Amino acid sequence: MGKKCQCNCQCNEQCHNHDPDHNHVHSEESFHRQLLITVFVGILTIIAVILENSSSEYQVPVIVLSIVVLAITAFPIFKEAVVGLLNGKRNVNELVSIAIIGCILLSEFVVAAEVAVILTIGELVESWAYARSGRDIRKIIEGNPVYGHKIIGDTIEEVRVSEIIKGDLVLVRPGDVVPVDGTVIEGRSDLDESCLTGESLPVEKDVSDKVYSGSINYNGTLKIRADADAEDSTLGNIVKLVSEAGQRRPPTMLMINRFSRYYSPVILIIAAIVILLTRDPIRAVTVLVVACPCALLLATPSAVIAAVGYAAKQGILVKGGEFLEACQNISVVLFDKTGTLTGGNMEVSAIDPYNCSEEELLFKAGIAESASSHPIAKAIIKECKKTGLNLICNGENVMDSGLGIRAVCDGSIILVGSRQFLSNNGISIREGSTNGQMKIFVACDGRFLGSIYLNDEIRPESFDTIESIRKSGISKIGMVTGDSGDSVKKIAKAAGLLESMVRSGVLPDEKCHIIEEYQKNGEKVCYIGDGTNDGPALAMADIGVAIGSRSDTVALKTSHVVLMREGLSRLPMFFDLGRRTNHVIIENLVMALVFSFVMIIAASVGLLPPALGAVGHQIATVAVLFNSVRLSVKKSYTL
Ligand code: ADP
Ligand code: MG
Repeated sequence: MGKKCQCNCQCNEQCHNHDPDHNHVHSEESFHRQLLITVFVGILTIIAVILENSSSEYQVPVIVLSIVVLAITAFPIFKEAVVGLLNGKRNVNELVSIAIIGCILLSEFVVAAEVAVILTIGELVESWAYARSGRDIRKIIEGNPVYGHKIIGDTIEEVRVSEIIKGDLVLVRPGDVVPVDGTVIEGRSDLDESCLTGESLPVEKDVSDKVYSGSINYNGTLKIRADADAEDSTLGNIVKLVSEAGQRRPPTMLMINRFSRYYSPVILIIAAIVILLTRDPIRAVTVLVVACPCALLLATPSAVIAAVGYAAKQGILVKGGEFLEACQNISVVLFDKTGTLTGGNMEVSAIDPYNCSEEELLFKAGIAESASSHPIAKAIIKECKKTGLNLICNGENVMDSGLGIRAVCDGSIILVGSRQFLSNNGISIREGSTNGQMKIFVACDGRFLGSIYLNDEIRPESFDTIESIRKSGISKIGMVTGDSGDSVKKIAKAAGLLESMVRSGVLPDEKCHIIEEYQKNGEKVCYIGDGTNDGPALAMADIGVAIGSRSDTVALKTSHVVLMREGLSRLPMFFDLGRRTNHVIIENLVMALVFSFVMIIAASVGLLPPALGAVGHQIATVAVLFNSVRLSVKKSYTL
């Protein structure tokens, strides 16, 4: 059931569709070649069967035909079995090889040919169905552009995407796929980012906007400056992630691998017992054929690649099947506040200076924040631009403590951050009113400069997302935030969270400890953060979900799942997909085990001839594959 790999993936391994380590998708060309060969041997086998049944005179041609068929179909199976044994890596071919050799020894050449041909046909259907479950992954990989247009002086050169490096100028014409992540420096256009976010509405891009590799340029011509090499650009990362995710083994897979070590010997013993009790070796041959655990081995990986691919198409990057499986056991869901439950578009709402001008306060805050990617920093920098402040300073040296920024600029030390951050640094603060707004404090060279108010609005989908998680049966839903004060209470209330489940004023490391505490009590925790200041928490959680981080590589690296579309709207879809993946895996395992069991019994009592056994075995495998493909079919969601 295995052949030397003939596809274009250039792998040197033996190609084996049942081998979960080898998840590549077969090329169309090799599929057609396989189809032709299968049709050819199929016809030869049918002729052999007809001749055998019409008269005993044709014994010689029947044997010759069967041997030709076996030479084409069985040889690769034997070879695979031997290679597997030599490498100490068992595979499903051993049982089938013994079955075919058994038939030959019993002079049942036609039966041997039938079994080998049916398995070859099955393999063809399987490789098609397996490719179907990996279709979404392949589409994403194919979306990776090969060429881009580099601007060199006055000329434009078409180069391979891999030759574009950070800092290069690139021309993106209408219809082009953006080759690397970059910033627009000239032009205006609508871009389709659906390949990254699953969001089909085009996004308008103007000068100084970020564009991401893999987006499709609709109408205008853009000149962009590359912010990263192609490999480190968004699509490059997605392709890497998704193709690796398809190959990681989730826990059920590891369990099955352990189990399969004992499987072959047990089946051989059963076959031996059948021969001893019934004196009918053909029955034992059938036992070996039907017991071949292809369906079992494919149960998990086929479901995982279908789900991971489908998720990626919807803008949900899942780094491995284990995180889909983990959805089932999650008992606590914790959200970060700023940038996660809130912060789609944070804005400065008021400036409250203390013994200095509004302008000085904003300017000092702005230069300190220029190096930060925190939503607060973005809001302050936006406000500075609006006011026409030019944020340039010398000798910038920035430290981000998670509660605020400390920057050394033109010789003076600027602090911007929470109440706690400033008092930790020995600054006494003059509190103004808060009226439920988020507030940060600024100091320079030990002198308090005032506070900046920000309106940190709750995302419109936060309440519904939390509601839908609660409906799905998870009752412990909370918020852990570095922010403190009235604004935290306001957001918690608007999000529908219980006060007892809200922890405020926590440092990034403390978030991690809170998660650990839950885990020590046997809970499984899902943490959802925006990637700023919560890398450790994302990594510690059983499932760490980062949101809206198209270009944030920290979030991509430390989290387990990334929601590429801005906001939380895809979170319920992820949980639902995780649950459905679990169901499908369990269905697959049960289906595979029950089918094998029933067929082994039927074969042992002589109800099943070998050829029919081979058909039954293939039906089970294909049923498992098609069940998995269901995961890549769009479902409608309430959000
Ligand atoms: P959350 O946990 O809600 O996402 P963060 O951990 O990102 O919040 O930040 C917690 C608090 O630390 C903020 O409310 C703010 O007071 C302060 N802070 C963090 N980073 C910055 C920054 N770059 N500039 C100003 N204040 C900051
Ligand atoms: Mg945050």
